[in-house]
Amino acid sequence: MVSRIIDAHAHVGRFGSWANVSCTPEELLEKMDASGVERAVLFAPDNSLVRKAVRMYPKRFVGYVWPNPHDSEALSLVKESVKRWGFKGIKLHPLVHAFLPTDEEVLPIVEFAEKERIPVAIHSGHPPFSLPWSIGELAEMYPEVRIVMLHMGHAHGVYIQAAINTAKKYDNIILETSGVSMHSKIKEAVEKVGEGRVVFGSDYPFHDYSVELRKVDVAGLTRRQKDLVLRENAKMLL
Ligand SMILES: [Zn+2]
Repeated sequence: MVSRIIDAHAHVGRFGSWANVSCTPEELLEKMDASGVERAVLFAPDNSLVRKAVRMYPKRFVGYVWPNPHDSEALSLVKESVKRWGFKGIKLHPLVHAFLPTDEEVLPIVEFAEKERIPVAIHSGHPPFSLPWSIGELAEMYPEVRIVMLHMGHAHGVYIQAAINTAKKYDNIILETSGVSMHSKIKEAVEKVGEGRVVFGSDYPFHDYSVELRKVDVAGLTRRQKDLVLRENAKMLL
């Protein structure tokens, strides 16, 4: 297994309701250390938690801002996070905040990403708002913006297939592996979409490193492909 892994998707804070998971930056660091993970991209609904974690551990964490596009302050939060706090990307969750990736409120945020040349990571895998086809429509509108499709379709085979097919169509889409239910699709994504366009993510604390890394390990990748997925490809997202 590759060491000095980069995790393109992790969280701090508490996620209540049905999820009932939480973690502190220190708990996450302990998990990362035990799993050979050097750095992790962090986002949380409470952006101040990410800000604090990045400030405390700048060599280990990279912050992405997570706005609610329906909020009138969304764009100013995004701008402040990137310009003042040094956040390196934007995370959007269409399902949680009930919007389509191409909705009017989202576009100024994506245009800011385009101007700043930062990636936009978008949750995928759940109807009606977070499906690969809709993320593809956004990718088509903004070919210069790198769009990270988080979970690459997640736990439904049909959506995973759609994630791969959509990423094949738009070369600004990068697939992220956390929570994907079929290890074999990681290999298929690398082969069909390209070995430079798949990145490892854990989605900790929703998923554990031991499980998420194992999927990459048994996917049938070559040593070089593993190196790219677990580390090298994610560098462009930092
Ligand atoms: Zn997540």
